[in-house]
This record gives sequence, C-alpha cells and structure tokens, in this order.
Amino acid sequence: MGINDKNIKRCNFCGRSENRVNSLFSSGEYNICDNCVNICYKMLLESLEKEREEEEKEKEKRSNPQPKSKVPEVPSVKNIQPKNFSIKTVDLKTPKEIKAVLDEYVVGQDLAKTTLAVSVYNHYKRILSTDDDDDVEIQKSNVLLLGPTGVGKTFLAQTLAKTLDVPFAIADATTLTEAGYVGDDVENVLVRLLQAADYDVEAAERGIIYVDEIDKIARKSENTSITRDVSGEGVQQALLKIVEGTVSNVPPQGGRKHPNQECVQIDTKNILFICGGAFDGLEQEILKRTQSSGIGFGAEIVTKKDGESNIFRKVTTQDIVKFGIVPELVGRLPIITVLDELDEEALVNILTKPKNALVKQYKKLFSYDNVEFEIEQDALVEIARKTLQQKTGARGLRSIVEKILMDVMFEIPSQVGVKKVTITVDCVMNNAKPLVEYYEDSSSKDIPLVEEKANS
Ligand code: ADP
Repeated sequence: MGINDKNIKRCNFCGRSENRVNSLFSSGEYNICDNCVNICYKMLLESLEKEREEEEKEKEKRSNPQPKSKVPEVPSVKNIQPKNFSIKTVDLKTPKEIKAVLDEYVVGQDLAKTTLAVSVYNHYKRILSTDDDDDVEIQKSNVLLLGPTGVGKTFLAQTLAKTLDVPFAIADATTLTEAGYVGDDVENVLVRLLQAADYDVEAAERGIIYVDEIDKIARKSENTSITRDVSGEGVQQALLKIVEGTVSNVPPQGGRKHPNQECVQIDTKNILFICGGAFDGLEQEILKRTQSSGIGFGAEIVTKKDGESNIFRKVTTQDIVKFGIVPELVGRLPIITVLDELDEEALVNILTKPKNALVKQYKKLFSYDNVEFEIEQDALVEIARKTLQQKTGARGLRSIVEKILMDVMFEIPSQVGVKKVTITVDCVMNNAKPLVEYYEDSSSKDIPLVEEKANS
C-alpha cells in the first residue's frame, strides 16, 4: 500500500488517507476529512467575526463622527494639520491611552511606561503644534532608559512605535563608529529608519530611533584623553549631532558614502531618540553619592535588585556624566527613567498575560494542528525560576520553552489524533517529555505520515 494507491480514499485537502482520519466525507470523487472541515469552519468563523467588527466600527463612526477624548483635561491634538510643515498627521493618543496600550504588551515597568507615554505625547504635540509663538521653543524630549538586560527596554520602545504607528529603527551603539572608521556610520541608523518608513522621508523624519547599549560607548575615564577614542567619545559626538537635530545626507541603500552617490536629506529635528543601557557599575556611583551623607549604622543599604528601592531611581545626570557619557549628550536626553529587574511573578506574568504572551503564541501554533496546549502552573513558576538563574531577564523564557517543546513540535504535525500537549513541572526540572494526550478513537496515532510516504 503506498501513497499513490488509487483504491485508498484520501482527503483532497491534506492528503491523509481514510484510515488516518476520524471521518472522511465524500461527494463523488472528492473527499474531505474531519480535520480539514474543522479548520475551514474556524476560518469561516474568524472572517465572519472580522466582518462583524468592521461593521460595528463603521456604525460607531457614523453615529459619533468626532469622538471625544477620554481624558478631557488634556487637549486632544488629534488631526491637527500643521500649517508650517508638511508633516502628516499622527493619530496621537493621550498619555493614558498610550500607557493603556503599553500595558497590554509590557508587564510591570509602570514608571518607565508612564514617563515614556508623557514624553512621547509631548514630543508629537510639539511636532504637530500650529502655535506660531516663536519665543517659546519646546525642546525634544528624548529619553534615556536605565535597566538590566532583558527587562523590556527595547520591547517598550518597539511597542511604543507600533502604538503610534510611526517608523521605528533599532541601532546598537556598540557597532557604531564615527564616519570614516571601520564599522557602522552613525548615519546608517537614519538609513534604517528610512527603510522602515518605506523610503517616505517625511514619515522617517517623525519616527523613533532606539539606541541600545548606549552605556557601552561611555568613555573610560572622566578626564579627556589626548588620543582619539574611536569607540567611545567619538561615537558619542557623532550621535549627539543627529540627536540634537541636523540635516543629514544619507545614502538610501546604506553603506559608506562616496562622492558620486545620490543621497537623501533627512532632518533629524523631529526624530525621537530613546537610548537604553544597563549601566553596570553605575549603582556604585549612586551609592557613593547617596551614602556619603549617611555612612555608619542605620545608613540605607540598597542594591540594584531591591525592586521597590531600585537604586537607579536615585540617578542624576551627574551620575551619567561620571559614568562616561559626555555632558552634551546627557543634556540631549532630558528624560531619564528606570526599569526594574523582573522577579518570578513578573516572569510568570510575561509568559501568560500580555496580548502576545509566549503561552498564547504556542497555543496558536498548536491550534493550527488542532491540538490544545497548556503549561501547568507549577511548571510556569519553575520556568521563571530557571530564567532568573540565567540572569538574562525575560529573554531566557523563550529558549527554555522552545527546548522543552522541540521534539513534540517535530513529531505532532505528522501524527493523527493528538488532543493535547502539556508541559509539566517534570519537563522543566528533569528534562521529561511533555505530556501528549490522544483522542480515544484514534487508531494509528504513532505512525507519522512521513514514514508512510517514505515507504511508498
Ligand atoms: P532589553 O531590556 O535588554 O532591551 P528586551 O526589551 O529586548 O530587553 O527584552 C527581550 C524580550 O523579553 C522582549 O522581546 C520581550 O518579549 C520580553 N520582555 C522583556 N521584558 C518584558 C516585559 N516587561 N513585559 C513583557 N515582555 C518582556
């Protein structure tokens, strides 16, 4: 018996044979199995649901053409058409609305979320303002995020850009060099933003750039060195130029500029810069400063891991300068905010709660094969504990789950009758295999389809 055997009825959609499915419905020479009926049914329901949602939105728009802001005390600048610039309108949400969206994706980090929401709101209000009063120039509110690795700095900036629907680019400060040195020109960051904006210069000019690992380009000592510092201060100066606002000529394809190359001009005046870094060792500086007045018995002892009393919350711009970021650049990052280390509870929440939580992602992946998926509560806690040991923040969660599921995810798509996959605490602690449950009436559950094909 082989895959081409004409006497065996097969589902015309997935190719499974009659004896590999629970039911096979036939009409003339065409067949469909219960699995495929189920998938079609779900697709139909989803599209009906979408249609219904769109109809409702349309109805709401018609009955309430100019929705009122939910926070009346803050004037809404939605749909402001700037007179002097040709900037397209940004669908600007109020700080509360921005924070609410961030809450759906990012667990904890309330201080950073509130600060970011306010600065981003002010930033776009500044860009979209039609106020002609030239005496008062509102400065850009670029943000500096301090926090250990894997606690959501990049993720926050990314989610923010998605929330506002503006172009977004990430740059790694450690790969940047001044123009003329081997490495990534600072201007290439603008190229990436331009690419993210689909080469729409206007859109790029009101985008967001996240500069990661800004602490890694700190100069090594506070005294200015007489030798040139390629990786540190030089890069800071180059970065400073685009952060404070300049018209940059960038080659749209990226790479090094050369004389005959066509360049695009990008004005960085209205680009919002969010810089992030772990600033390892900065806590010692802050401690030295804050404890000099309270040395001795009863002096407050705080560590970076203290959660509520996160020492970083006491940071000042002088501390950052002492760490090795030039004062001019610190001055251009007027909003400094802090992200806390994630504890066990936060990590469990990250696994389950956010809109695109890992568990939800795996549930969706398995559902494509009509299989249920679950991670038992104590297994969730154990995954969080294991991640904490690795000291990689939330970044370690995915690799732990992925490792546990790898074999199962390899096998299941070729098996019939699988009902549910469960990760138990045993899987996390003792490398046991995930629990696989089958439907009672499935007969040939162990024989993967691939084998049948290989033998035919
Ligand atoms: P970093 O602080 O080093 O920039 P990231 O933002 O890159 O860390 O975090 C790595 C990943 O971990 C993110 O893509 C996200 O999936 C997850 N993550 C980290 N922190 C959080 C958080 N507070 N809430 C939800 N997910 C998070």
